[in-house]
Amino acid sequence: MLKINNLHINYGGIKAVRGINLTIEDNKIVTLIGANGAGKSSTLRAIMGLVKKGEGTVKYNDENITDLSTVDIVKKGIVLVPEGRHVFPNLTVEENLILGAYTINDKEAIKNNMAQVYEIFPRLKERHWQKAGTLSGGEQQMLAVGRALMIKPKVLMMDEPSLGLAPILVKEIFDIIKTINEQGNTILLVEQNAKKALEIAHYGYVLETGELKLEGTGQELLNDSRVQEAYLGEA
Ligand code: ATP
Repeated sequence: MLKINNLHINYGGIKAVRGINLTIEDNKIVTLIGANGAGKSSTLRAIMGLVKKGEGTVKYNDENITDLSTVDIVKKGIVLVPEGRHVFPNLTVEENLILGAYTINDKEAIKNNMAQVYEIFPRLKERHWQKAGTLSGGEQQMLAVGRALMIKPKVLMMDEPSLGLAPILVKEIFDIIKTINEQGNTILLVEQNAKKALEIAHYGYVLETGELKLEGTGQELLNDSRVQEAYLGEA
């Protein structure tokens, strides 16, 4: 279980996140929704040790990982697929995947993990020789997710995986998130597409200008009139 307690994030004088508590239980999909600038990406980046926490603790299976380096957090099995994909454009699909396994030394394990990634993403297998920069947007997103899976993470955090994708690919990426979860991964999902995220989430949190306003099961939040009004485009 990943537990975030009283997290604060400050950028200079700006209080981007103000004392939030999140519990991400094992094998669940938990989503964090909220408008632009609510502090969602900052929260994921702070958990990963990529931005400084003003205050608060992050515990993973009761171990305090608040001040670990990003590499050590990855070694615990927690990874982030950042917003905007960030694949290495001049490297092939396969080379990008190998780089994802940077904390693993065992060549055989890397090969096995790659085979599993190719099982989830047959399209990446077909295109393993192709330069990542020439993949379509959807394929690049799949590569970014596949690369994160190369270390066989326990907790996969994803920042806006559906951003900029055509509707058919949005469906595909959400189906894939469900499959990855069913294979035993815990998922913390940040999404603008609140409806789709809540539909697959076991639990959700609503973040507004750095504070948690609501929480509940995916279904409870989908049925909540405040969520419908603010995030689902329904009156
Ligand atoms: P979006 O959905 O638009 O990505 P978000 O909910 O992920 O938004 P954040 O990216 O976490 O929100 O940003 C929260 C606030 O912190 C915003 O006001 C943003 O401008 C500010 N912020 C984020 N990163 C930095 C930074 N490196 N320096 C200064 N301010 C920042």
